[in-house]
Amino acid sequence: MRKNLFQINSFRNKYQTLVNEINLIEDSLKALTDSELRAKNFQLKQQYKDTQDLSPLIAESFALTREASLRTLGLRHFDVQLIGGLVLNNQKIAEMKTGEGKTLVATLPACLNALTNNGVHIVTVNDYLASRDQVSMSQIYKFLGFDTGLIQNDMTSLERKKNYNADITYVTNYELTFDFLRDNMALNLTDVVLRPFNYCIIDEVDSILIDEAQTPLIISNNIETPVDKYIIAAEITNYLTLNIHYKVDEKNKNVILTDQGSKQIEQILRIQDLYDVRDPWIPYVINAIKANALFFNNVHYIVQNDRIVIVDEFTGRIMPDRRWGDGLHQAIEAKEKLPIRQKTETVAAITYQNFFLLYPKLSGMTGTGKTAEIEFEKIYNLSVEEIPTARPTLRKDLPDLIYKDQFSKWSAIAQTCNQISLTGQPILIGTTTVEKSEMLAQLLNEYRLSYQILNAKPENVRRESEIVAQAGKKGAITIATNMAGRGTDIILGGNINFKIQKELYDILTVARNYVLSKNMNILQSPLKTKFDWSSQKFLSVLTSLVADSNFLKLSDIDILRILRENDKISIPNNSYTCSIKFLIDELVLYYRKSQEQENRIVKNLGGLYIIGTERNDSRRVDNQLRGRCGRQGDPGTSRFFLSLDDNLLRLFGGPKIQEFMQTQMMDDSPLESNFLTRSLDSAQERVEERAYQQRKNLFDYDDILNKQRNIIYFERRQILNSASNQKNILAYGEQIITDIFLELKKERASKKDILLLFENLFGKDLSLLSSKNAKALTDDFSWTELKLYLFNEFWLTYQSKINELAVYGDGICENLERSIILINIDRIWREHLQKMTLLREAVGWRGYGQRNPLYEYKQEAFYLFENRKKILRHLVIYDLLRSSIL
Ligand code: ADP
Ligand code: MG
Repeated sequence: MRKNLFQINSFRNKYQTLVNEINLIEDSLKALTDSELRAKNFQLKQQYKDTQDLSPLIAESFALTREASLRTLGLRHFDVQLIGGLVLNNQKIAEMKTGEGKTLVATLPACLNALTNNGVHIVTVNDYLASRDQVSMSQIYKFLGFDTGLIQNDMTSLERKKNYNADITYVTNYELTFDFLRDNMALNLTDVVLRPFNYCIIDEVDSILIDEAQTPLIISNNIETPVDKYIIAAEITNYLTLNIHYKVDEKNKNVILTDQGSKQIEQILRIQDLYDVRDPWIPYVINAIKANALFFNNVHYIVQNDRIVIVDEFTGRIMPDRRWGDGLHQAIEAKEKLPIRQKTETVAAITYQNFFLLYPKLSGMTGTGKTAEIEFEKIYNLSVEEIPTARPTLRKDLPDLIYKDQFSKWSAIAQTCNQISLTGQPILIGTTTVEKSEMLAQLLNEYRLSYQILNAKPENVRRESEIVAQAGKKGAITIATNMAGRGTDIILGGNINFKIQKELYDILTVARNYVLSKNMNILQSPLKTKFDWSSQKFLSVLTSLVADSNFLKLSDIDILRILRENDKISIPNNSYTCSIKFLIDELVLYYRKSQEQENRIVKNLGGLYIIGTERNDSRRVDNQLRGRCGRQGDPGTSRFFLSLDDNLLRLFGGPKIQEFMQTQMMDDSPLESNFLTRSLDSAQERVEERAYQQRKNLFDYDDILNKQRNIIYFERRQILNSASNQKNILAYGEQIITDIFLELKKERASKKDILLLFENLFGKDLSLLSSKNAKALTDDFSWTELKLYLFNEFWLTYQSKINELAVYGDGICENLERSIILINIDRIWREHLQKMTLLREAVGWRGYGQRNPLYEYKQEAFYLFENRKKILRHLVIYDLLRSSIL
């Protein structure tokens, strides 16, 4: 304990000097007017322009942001929030507990780094959070003269571009990464939406860089699927015998072909090499064997409406939308003699890991980063700094209760809920699956308890946030899967903002509909009784509002949007937003009193009670759940209810646990055993470690592809940016001629053959060949003369193409050339991506020998990539000289 305190103190000292400086400057800012503050910020911008150094500006910029926040939102950054901001600016991860105000913390480094004019990205996990944070924080930025942008899923590229050009842009990791991939497929500079990367702050950084880093982000096309190969491979399995032709590795769900097996198959197929990258059979064969030896009908999948539907092994649940990847699904379809569905082709892909590493300056914040510190450091070079809370934490984490089986565990949970709810203390129960949430709901029904249930479906995020926000109300019981409503602040006694939004929305839409239906007499309308609301001033403003023709033009959605955005707007921009603002303020005044009362009552009851129903795959996720109570010095309690047959213990507990279970005589009462807690901890760490290894492995393999992608995207961008590519084209043509000469001279090809080759490339007859005594002529020519002749022919052909295209107008030729180069770069890259996927699979199988698969993979990837320039030159010249405008 003592050591901990010391660590925090020394850590604080590091930043304390700057914090003191900020506090000092802040005092001097108090006397300035709003416009003087803005002018000061402008000065900082100028200063940066001159010096290109942000460090001397930190204290002043932070002080300005703090003052701007106080004057617009009424929130003054706490000192620990300043420290958080400094950590973020130092390209680190700030671990700040839930409710400590990370949204506000981000404004500090955002404003500082926006002084560079190069843009700041603040990344969140979903559209709802991006929009919420942008709306609430934009006032600070606006006050200081910065503009903000927001990217949402349904935006056009024009809107995206505009929003990315803002000083500070709020965006989700998904949209941002997709925009990056799309930008790198653009054929025109005008379609590119992103600027070069500058500074990025990732909110809930562990969710994005760890939990979501398992799978790469992919843009794909449907492609023709070699149905025959799947069917033939399925047939072949009839001629293979276990342990002679192949071996099965059940634990890793893999099969290994023996030498005898490979030979047998090569014979049946009459091919030379099963592993040939140009005509690969091996993936089909391996998948067919796997489909036979490892995947069984009604165990791993069921057949439904001519389709294979996956069954989850741990839960037994069917997963209708999932498909096994890499051709396995098709192999099982072939085995079951079902129609084989199309495969998709990757046209662009990147992992979050490599994407975020593209930022020259990267930082992140989260409530739970410490347990993943090593991974952050190793992969992202980001260290984690724990920031002390503004107020001391009062949360009580009670020891785990362990039951003998699921039945007694869930009964105990329901019983506990019933007991706690007698006092009215609010409860939040976290589950791992939707099924379990629903099962618990059934149990709570038996006690006649009322509850809210949330499932973390992407389409429900906003609604779920609204529900979670009320989880701190007296008597509330909320059942939520892990991710549901994340990022939402749970205020004890309930959140009045959401409540007011909803109530005013109802009032406004009902009132407007009355007016529109020509029943002007709204004061007598059921409004009063319906909303139990009767302030005279309120009603008169409402009456004038519904007489405003501009207001009447708004749709329900418009009203909803205004209410959401008006939530914290200080400067209304027209008559009706002004009135709405007034109505909101009235409601806030009215509800705030009761909220304060409620808040005190719930605090006296002990705050929010968190119940965990199972240990998760990582300690981080458990901590996220616990962290939902005890915000900003609130009281709160957390307790996990576990069972000996929970997945974690069952699968990773080891043999000792099994023994323990058998020797214990157990009734329904819970166990508290150090041995069990230790086993649980180590099982959880094993799972974490395994997941980390998988991500590390992905990262290692992705490394070479990542370097190649960077090269391609760089080359591509140069072409995209250049006004003319004629120099490139000339160089391509000359290089082709030189290369072919080198190669063919070695192979002793005849001069005539060479000329024929070039006729084909240039797409026209060569005069030397078509003249009558071609043979004599070619014989008379020396190799050097022939080469010069071809150079000349190429220049002429190219020049006449340019002349031909010039007829259509200025720039047509340049655009065509650029498009032809880009399209071919993309085509080669796309083909390279497919080859790399095959290679990845092939190398995995070969790895069972003595060779190191990663090394092999990198070697071959290098060779596959090396040829691309040569191929590009040929494709470009071939396409260009044959192009015409219709
Ligand atoms: P986190 O993301 O860290 O969980 P949020 O950014 O959602 O926390 O903020 C939680 C709550 O704390 C919000 O209601 C916010 O308005 C409030 N808050 C943040 N900073 C301050 C501050 N300096 N003073 C008062 N309230 C604050
Ligand atoms: Mg947050």
